Amino acid sequence: MIEEKGILFILSGPSGVGKGTVRKEIFNRKNNLKYSISMTTRKMRPGEKDGVDYFFKTKEEFQELIRQNKLLEYAKYVDNYYGTPREYVEDMLAAGHDVLLEIEVQGALQVKKNFPDGVFIFLLPPSLEELKNRIVRRGTETDSLVRNRLAEAKKEIRMMDNYDYAVLNDDIDRAVENVRTIIASEHLKRERV
Ligand code: 5GP
Repeated sequence: MIEEKGILFILSGPSGVGKGTVRKEIFNRKNNLKYSISMTTRKMRPGEKDGVDYFFKTKEEFQELIRQNKLLEYAKYVDNYYGTPREYVEDMLAAGHDVLLEIEVQGALQVKKNFPDGVFIFLLPPSLEELKNRIVRRGTETDSLVRNRLAEAKKEIRMMDNYDYAVLNDDIDRAVENVRTIIASEHLKRERV
């Protein structure tokens, strides 16, 4: 069985839906995935580490990365920049590794233009009410930021038709298993015998 290039998986969906939790659980289990750590200009939250959760950058540093075409995609999201380092992803795929991106919707749509063979997975909340509860419970955002994130979420959910798969995150273990099934099935589809 020969597979030359790795597969790019894009896990996306509204903020607060649990993308980060699902992604961490996937990496807690046996897998052959590489995670692409994003760059961001947002402030570090308590417990986060530079180079682990994100590469934290100033606005000027981020704009320089954009200018030098070092980002595969980037988006301005609730007043901060977020972006995927191009070289890491391209090198890993070329070396035959699968790569997982966990990014918001505008960025995912940019990736789709350059990587039409990517596998686009949209994580859905059980309801907007539940999404709001999750963002509030996380306790990291002010009231106005919660409102911004919910408004953003509604726009993002309307974009889900552009994705290959939708996974409902009403139960974390089930959502993780569904994503793992998608990963396995995409390999089976592409395997040459
Ligand atoms: P947070 O501030 O909660 O860590 O992330 C806010 C949003 O940005 C989340 O939806 C997250 O998935 C997304 N995000 C994280 N990294 C990237 C990235 O590299 N590119 C894009 N477009 N979105 C990202």
